[in-house]
Amino acid sequence: MLELDGLTKTYAGFEFGPVDATVGDEVLAVLGPSGSGKTTLLSVIAGIVAPDSGSVSLNGRALSGRSLEDRRTGLVFQDGALFPHLTAHENIGYAATSDDRIDELATLLEIRDVLDRRPATLSGGEKQRVALARTLAADPDALLLDEPLSSLDAPIRRRLRSELHALFDSLDIPVVYVTHDQRTATALGDRIAIFRNGTIEQIGPPSTVLREPETRFVATFTGNENLFEGVATGDATVRVGDVELRTSEPVPAESAVTVCLHPSRIRLCDPSARPADGSAVPPTNVIRGTVDDWLNEGTEYRVHVNAAETSLALVTTARPPAFDRLAIDAGAPIQVAIPPQAVHLIPTAEAGF
Ligand code: ADP
Ligand code: MG
Repeated sequence: MLELDGLTKTYAGFEFGPVDATVGDEVLAVLGPSGSGKTTLLSVIAGIVAPDSGSVSLNGRALSGRSLEDRRTGLVFQDGALFPHLTAHENIGYAATSDDRIDELATLLEIRDVLDRRPATLSGGEKQRVALARTLAADPDALLLDEPLSSLDAPIRRRLRSELHALFDSLDIPVVYVTHDQRTATALGDRIAIFRNGTIEQIGPPSTVLREPETRFVATFTGNENLFEGVATGDATVRVGDVELRTSEPVPAESAVTVCLHPSRIRLCDPSARPADGSAVPPTNVIRGTVDDWLNEGTEYRVHVNAAETSLALVTTARPPAFDRLAIDAGAPIQVAIPPQAVHLIPTAEAGF
């Protein structure tokens, strides 16, 4: 168990903390923009930077005042930081207690074939595997990783991401994984801490942080482009401009709310679609509009829609089959279905800016 208690550090022009968090035998993904203090957090935990106040303890042992080795926190950097003049084997052996252990780690990380080579001859993915093996060779009680995949090409990054997921599961130690990439954070984190200006703005399981952001910043940073000011009209309804949306939970009437509709949770549908049962009652939260424009993002399309006579500018995503079937084009009529469960509300007073 890794416990962070009231950590602060002041640099000229940057205040880090206070940061409090407890990390069990799990992966805490720390997600935040560049300059938000993620590396500072790891540096303080690893003992590279002394905090101005607060404490770090690992399995009940206070870490302050201990040497880097004695802290038993393993740190993996973005670029691996291998010794250039040593082979992969020697790099791992630097911290390993035996050749058997090097063997075991090389097998685990699939780098047996490159053990005789020096870092300069390794690919980015191989270097990161060697760096991870070197760190694990010291049998750390906690593992800290600072954007270890960010310099890799997308296919290697995806592959290593899924391998790391299995590896972390097998370690049974606290893992703090720093990234600015939302996909990596949600794929690897048992919990995500959203970092902003040196503090944790929200912490929780990935699905909660994605679906129920507590502030505008968290909503925006997790890809929520549809944020509108609205007023709850009572009885599980909220009004945004001219549009009334059903929500899945009752909201106190007259309260000012920020309405979040995550693009991935709202759906485009056929402009002429009628309720499946043929009834005249309009289906819940299906809004008419026109396509404003669209962007091909490779695996999916991002579609901008002017809904409800342009009072609601919505961004949605569509997979190629739906995109083709709906004949989406600028100016074309369309409907947007917003499931009540996808209508997330933040009390405006708490939304921040
Ligand atoms: P991140 O890893 O999220 O990009 P960092 O923790 O590296 O952010 O940096 C957070 C802020 O602290 C930045 O504004 C950075 O310039 C500042 N900072 C980091 N290290 C130092 C240092 N040794 N001296 C002065 N300022 C620093
Ligand atoms: Mg950093």
